[in-house]
This record gives sequence, C-alpha cells and structure tokens, in this order.
Amino acid sequence: MDNNALAQLLFPDVTQTPEDMNARFPKRELPDNACVTRIGPSPTGFVHLGNLYNAIIGERLAHQSGGVFYLRIEDTDNKREVEGAVETVINAMSYFGVNFDEGATADGDNGIYGPYRQRQRKDIYHVFAKLLVEQGKAYPCFMTAEELDAIREQQTANKENPGVYGKYAKNRDLTLEQIKENLAAGKEWVLRFRGVETDEYICVEDAVRGKLEMPRNNMDFVLLKSDGIPTYHFAHVIDDHFMQSTHVIRGEEWISSLPMHVELFNTLGWEMPIYCHTATLMKMDGASKRKLSKRKDPELALSYYQQEGISKDAVWEFLLTLLNSNYEEWRIANPDADYREFPYTVGKMSVSGALVDLDKMTDISKNVICRMSAQTVFDNWLEWCEQYNTEYAELIKKYPERTLAALNVGKGGAKPRKDIETWKQACDFMSFYYDEKFTVADEMPEECDEATRKLFFAKYLETYDHSDDSSAWFDKVKAITEELGFAVKPKDFKKNPEMFKGSIVHITNMLRIALTGHANAPDIHEVSHVLGEDIVRARLNTWV
Ligand code: GLU
Repeated sequence: MDNNALAQLLFPDVTQTPEDMNARFPKRELPDNACVTRIGPSPTGFVHLGNLYNAIIGERLAHQSGGVFYLRIEDTDNKREVEGAVETVINAMSYFGVNFDEGATADGDNGIYGPYRQRQRKDIYHVFAKLLVEQGKAYPCFMTAEELDAIREQQTANKENPGVYGKYAKNRDLTLEQIKENLAAGKEWVLRFRGVETDEYICVEDAVRGKLEMPRNNMDFVLLKSDGIPTYHFAHVIDDHFMQSTHVIRGEEWISSLPMHVELFNTLGWEMPIYCHTATLMKMDGASKRKLSKRKDPELALSYYQQEGISKDAVWEFLLTLLNSNYEEWRIANPDADYREFPYTVGKMSVSGALVDLDKMTDISKNVICRMSAQTVFDNWLEWCEQYNTEYAELIKKYPERTLAALNVGKGGAKPRKDIETWKQACDFMSFYYDEKFTVADEMPEECDEATRKLFFAKYLETYDHSDDSSAWFDKVKAITEELGFAVKPKDFKKNPEMFKGSIVHITNMLRIALTGHANAPDIHEVSHVLGEDIVRARLNTWV
C-alpha cells in the first residue's frame, strides 16, 4: 500500500503539516510547576454538579500554582448540541465563582490556543489524521452499521470482547484500488486507528487513584467519524497536547478508554498529561448508594442549587469536603478563612463514589450564611430574589433598613443564630418582618385562652414603652405574667402545675406568635425594635 497516496486521496485539502501546528501553538511561558487545566463540557444545555466538581479541582490546581484554567467546548457530538449551551455553561460557572483565564466565551474565544470549540478545529485534527494515514497507522473503514451489528452478535455468541479488532477489522487491508472504488461509489467511511495485536499491559499513574494497570489497546477505534468530526478520543489527545494541559481532570467513566488515549499519545510521540479520574457522584437511596441520575435526581443539575438558593459558597464548601478528606478539619481550625485559602491537593481525594447529601449541603449553607455579615446576607439574598422571587426583591428594596436590621438579629455573640438555611427558605423565615407577608402560622398555646390573651395584650400595650431596654421590658412582662396567675419561673410551674394557669414560657410564646406568627422566632425585644413601634402595636392590637 502506498500510504502517501492514500493520505492524499483521503485528505486532498490538508496542506498544513504537524510542524505548522507546532509553530501555531507555541509553548506556554509559565512558572515552574504551574498547572494548566480545563473543563471540557459538551454543550447539551445541562450543566451538572459533576462539571462544577471537576471545575473546582482544575481551578484550584491552576490558580494555586500560577497556571491557566481554560474552557474548551467539546461539541463533537452534534446530535446533543443545544442553542445557547455555551452561555449556559459560562453563566453557571461564573455564578458559582469559577472563572476561566482562557477559552470559549459567549461571543468568541479568549486565548491563542483556540479555537476552543472542537468543531472549529477540524483542520487541526485532519493534519494528524493525514499523518497517521501516511504512517500506516490509520485507515478508512467502510463497514456498514449492519456489518458492525453482525460482528457484535458473533462476538457475543463466542463470548469475545466486542469491537473492531484483529480478524473483525474487515477493512484493514483494503487495497488502494478497493478504497478508490468505495469512495467513487460514494460509500461512507470513518477513519480507524490500526490497533496492534498485543497482550501487553499499560500502566498509568493516576494522580487520584495511583497506578492503573490495563491491557494495552488492540482496538481499531474510530478517529474521525463519517462527517470528518473527530471522536472524543482523538480530539482529547490533540487538544490537550496543543493546549498543553498538564492535568486532565475528568470523570472515572473515562478510565475504560484510557488505553486508546495512551496509544495515541505514544503513537504521536507526545508526553501524556497527568490524569485525574474523579469519583462518580452518588446518593443514598434507602440503604444503598447509587449513581445520581439525570432523570430521577434534580440535584444533579447545577441549576437546582441556584433555584433552591443554596449559597454558592456552600456548594463550594460541600464539594471541597467531598474532594479533600481534610477539608472539614481545616474549616474547623480556620472558621473565618476564605475557602480559597485551603491548600487543595489531588492526592487526598477519595476514589470511591462521592456522596451528595443534600441535608449536609443545607447544613453547610446554614453555617456559611451564619458567618456572613448582615450586609453580605442582604446582598446575596437580594441578588437571588431578583432572579427567583421578585416579590421579595421588591420588599427588600422597599424596606432596606428594616431588612438589614432583621438580618442582624442574633448575629453577634459566640453562638450566632442559624435561622437562614438557603435564600429560598430566607423568604419564609423573613416573611414576618413585612406586613405584606405576615401571617399567624402557629396556634396560640392552649394555656392562654381568649380571656387571658385579651387581658395580656391590653396590659402589655398599656405599659409598653418602645424605649425600654431589654431588662426593663422583661420586668414588665414578668409583672403581667404574675398578675395573670402564670408562673414567672418555669420550674415553679413544673413543680406545682395546679397552682398556675401556665408559665412565662406560654406567655412569651403567645407574645412571640402575635408578633412574628411563630413560636420559634428570634428574641422578642430585638424583633420589636426591628419592626418599630407602629407595627408592634398594630399586630398586638388585633388580639385585644
Ligand atoms: N466532554 C467530556 C465530558 O463531558 C469531557 C471529558 C474530559 O474532560 O476530558 O464528559
């Protein structure tokens, strides 16, 4: 076979050479040990938690080392492409505070190693497709879907590995004449790699998993599909070589294709990046763990966390706890530090499935929000409401001072309150601060019958002085409590319940419910001052 003639026949328009490519993509000038990382999402319109999980690793590795983190759009599978999907990825990543130094942007490219969308890199892939044909390492295959089905059936019956290899690689040795005839007949073809028959093993040092030993590739896998677009395998090797990724961070589902990638790097004579195959995201389903599923689990979508108003910092922190086993320890030792100060290392990653536990995420969110200043909570909550709850956005903007004061309630001290779990739940929790939303949700304690209620609120309003400090205010509450035949000390009531109508706990619950709608709410004196005297009087008056 005249390989040069075949290469010319298959790729008549390719005039550039591998040397031209080397010149086109110069070596990056970076500090020693700087990491170059990327994410390579497919533009399907669905950005999942796994994308962020891998992005955080890449972002940390690059930015901790003075390197480069870039976005490459892997759009070789055009059947799955959705309009606006690139913007969706960029917006989702930027919402979660992941910023790229280089790569695809909403309206083009940023960087000299582009294009950063694979379909626009066809000319680059074809240079190397042609090279492999010239070297006799790739060949056109005209096998039809029916022929491929037939060999699969035969392999299943013989209990052999599926795929095109060895005797099943039926088009491996077509003559130039046969190929010409097929092309002239307009038959569709794909370009296949010529696999070697071997029982050797390869060994790859994965940065997360350690040594991965696997049989060396013997498959005639596809490099270019019939439309000339590369497969993931071919595009990955060429792109990560020329874009000079030092680390390839991707899901563990790619481990099984690693032998093909190793084969290609070796064939092309290029150095391999360091592979980091990350654990699949799992969840508990009853007593067993299973993979998160796009169909069943809304929490797989990154948009879920935005819609639910889980603080983006909480999502980061949660993922960091999954990513590094020592993150939680570090957080306890450094309660006020920014999570970006945590020295992230790939070696401390778990290799078994990473468990996505929404309760834990909400818990982290609660802690993250409780550490924020009232102003930061205000800004973040308003930003969320502007997008997801405009009614509350209007209320926040209508009553900015009251809102800020409300968010400050219970903030000081060693044990700040943890009332707000998510931005969505903040709307429920904060509702009582706005007359427009206030409702009495809880039942009054049964110890406080209607007569008691009327009497209490009448007396309370009579003696109410908005300028009383907390202890003067409480003295007055105690006095009325006693007057109404309730125990001022809860333990007296416990000891002799028959002597009292109830205790001060019932009285303050009644007051809290009248004021906030809930028995479980922050300090009454503080809340009263946030609401202001007019609102306090108006709400309590309805009970008299
Ligand atoms: N396009 C691949 C995916 O969406 C990316 C894998 C990689 O990062 O190499 O899974």
